[in-house]
Amino acid sequence: MTPGPDTILRVAVNVPLSRLFDYLPPAGTDGAGLLPGIRLTVPFGRRRQTAVLMECAGTSDLPASKLKRAIAVLNDKPLLRAADLWLLRFTSDYYLHPVGEVAAAALPALLRQGRPLYPATERVTLTAAGRDADPDALARRAPRQAEVLAALAARGGACDAAELDEAVPAWRRCRKALLHKDCLRIDEVTATPVAVPESTAEPGPAPNAAQREALAAMRATSGFDVTLLDGVTGSGKTEVYLHRMQDVLAQNGQVLILVPEIGLTPQFVRRLRRRLGREPLVLHSSLPDSDRLAAWRAARDGSAPLILGTRSAVFTPLAAPGLIVVDEEHDGSYKQQEGLRYSARDLAIARAKHLDIPVILGSATPAMETVLRCRQGAYRHLVLPERAGFAAPPLIRLVDLARHPANDGLSDPLLRSMDRHLDEGGQALIFLNRRGYAPTLICTACGKIAECERCDARMTVHAGSQSLACHHCGASRPLDTSCSDCGADCRPLGQGTERIEGVLAARYGGDAVTRIDSDSTRLKGTMDKALARAASGEARILVGTQMLSKGHHFPKLTLVGVINADQGLFSTDFRGGERLGQSLVQVAGRAGRERRQGEVVIQTAFASHPFWSRLLAGGYDEVAAFTLAEREAAAWPPFSRLALLRAEAPQRGPTHNFLDTARQLAGELGLDHVRVLGPVSAPMERRAGRYRAQLLVQSASRQALHNLLGRLVIKLENHPAARRVRWSLDVDPAELF
Ligand code: ADP
Ligand code: ZN
Repeated sequence: MTPGPDTILRVAVNVPLSRLFDYLPPAGTDGAGLLPGIRLTVPFGRRRQTAVLMECAGTSDLPASKLKRAIAVLNDKPLLRAADLWLLRFTSDYYLHPVGEVAAAALPALLRQGRPLYPATERVTLTAAGRDADPDALARRAPRQAEVLAALAARGGACDAAELDEAVPAWRRCRKALLHKDCLRIDEVTATPVAVPESTAEPGPAPNAAQREALAAMRATSGFDVTLLDGVTGSGKTEVYLHRMQDVLAQNGQVLILVPEIGLTPQFVRRLRRRLGREPLVLHSSLPDSDRLAAWRAARDGSAPLILGTRSAVFTPLAAPGLIVVDEEHDGSYKQQEGLRYSARDLAIARAKHLDIPVILGSATPAMETVLRCRQGAYRHLVLPERAGFAAPPLIRLVDLARHPANDGLSDPLLRSMDRHLDEGGQALIFLNRRGYAPTLICTACGKIAECERCDARMTVHAGSQSLACHHCGASRPLDTSCSDCGADCRPLGQGTERIEGVLAARYGGDAVTRIDSDSTRLKGTMDKALARAASGEARILVGTQMLSKGHHFPKLTLVGVINADQGLFSTDFRGGERLGQSLVQVAGRAGRERRQGEVVIQTAFASHPFWSRLLAGGYDEVAAFTLAEREAAAWPPFSRLALLRAEAPQRGPTHNFLDTARQLAGELGLDHVRVLGPVSAPMERRAGRYRAQLLVQSASRQALHNLLGRLVIKLENHPAARRVRWSLDVDPAELF
């Protein structure tokens, strides 16, 4: 066949190559009626792949004799609409990531594997003949058949095949015989959209002046715009979201709500349900595949008005998009750190712009990128200045560790504050971003430190499991407290959450203390239990990592103690100050959320560091203003654009070799307004047995950066040096190392 007009199918295949692949329509068809957005099965190499049809074309760069036919069409109607395909392309172009891999990341696993959108289930029904069959006679001749008929009768005469699989696992072996005798009927039933139940919406508190003003500003415009809702935890941001959601729901629009990984709390889901009278559809990474597909379907067909999810939910197709909310927009978990390294916040904004709908970003500690856009007037900046209801802002004070040395990590002033708050019936949260018992195990005689064999990193001591664990690669080995070099005793140095828990338990009693970190909550259900103990006040002292610093509401909490904030003061990453400010303000926001006055005590060995005077005098605003000035002077983001080309391999040589090649290729392509820095080895060069190095590409112009990188990536994909390394490109990297 000579291809006629638009009979070349250009498809996205899940392989690491930045291009579409051309196919002919399946045998016996001419491609008429095949629309972009459908899925196809195509031959790829020696395998079959599920592919997404991105566009139809009249011609191909390949000679007609080289074109293969697609094997089958998997949807008769487009699975992805034009706006969804646009998002895939935009993501692929912006992050310079193969569009087939983008499509794979955006689709639920079952659709990626070629399964149907609406899975058909078999329904097995007992016929009149089946009912009348003499059970005793049948039981003698064909006991299994009798068993099947009995099982059906016991289920009212009909059930799903899956249920029968459970009840009589061997039923499929006598299915044919029973059908032949007309004892059974089997029907295919296709799952249909299920309406999400509605309940009555409860009214919330009357909005205060700041909330009313914010709502009025947002309601004054329609179509795309970005609003930063800037207010501390408890200032009533969620109330404002809820009102805007009601506006959209009243017009039968859908709302997509993105929350950070740890912010997806049952409390929040309940609040949405109660206040909006609709059941939120929850999308998160641990949903079983079939549930994820069902949720995706309900969002796509419009039967779910409220979609709540973490990072990857940004790709959820919507039938009637009306509003996107990104709560805690500064949160690091919005950036995917492997594979397709996208920022869900940034994609949410791009998507809203394309859909011409508003987007609300909420934060008490907005990212520098967002603060700058507000200053430039591109985003609307609305401030909720006070805590709603009655709570007053917490008092923050420093404890200078040079004057008040800490014993086992806890200084006297912090312990005295704890005594006072606990005596008054309050609750204390001790925050330490380091799990385990101690970050280091050191030999008391020769000073040898226990290190990971596969990483340039120290092993963390875990007392509960009596082991040494590497927090970078997951390696672990039994804890041996004598030195492998000299045989002398080793001792743990420094504090982790496990050790602090022990110290506090010795002082206040074990029942009073609850630790919440990824170790203590590994078992299913333990997290919920610990949070319930924390929320009820039964646990008077909470010890935890940043897991505890976000999203949760502990009514009795009045004191927050920060054990060790100093690492952030001297971070090598230019985002160090921003992150430290954010995490301290966030954790401080846990204190005194109801009527009691909250207090925050921060221990530091560098009390005269100017960061502290900025934070204490001017709060996050002042930290942000200083940080922005510093970034502008150094031309760091958001005043410039960055991309990081990373490479790793079992030896050092190939990584540097590859990056040198990349640097040279970039030079040949022309460094027009673009700077290339490196290659350099990563600060922790070896991780999990692999050497890592990187090349930083910087430009004041996004366009110049993308222009160069787009062409560079194609060259690298086909370069021999690329075969000896694993490489990736990170556009707008969140971490430089
Ligand atoms: P945020 O999202 O900024 O943390 P929330 O919207 O959750 O703030 O509000 C914090 C608390 O204050 C909630 O218990 C909420 O019900 C209450 N609240 C919010 N707005 C008002 C208001 N206008 N009047 C009284 N209480 C309010
Ligand atoms: Zn390791």
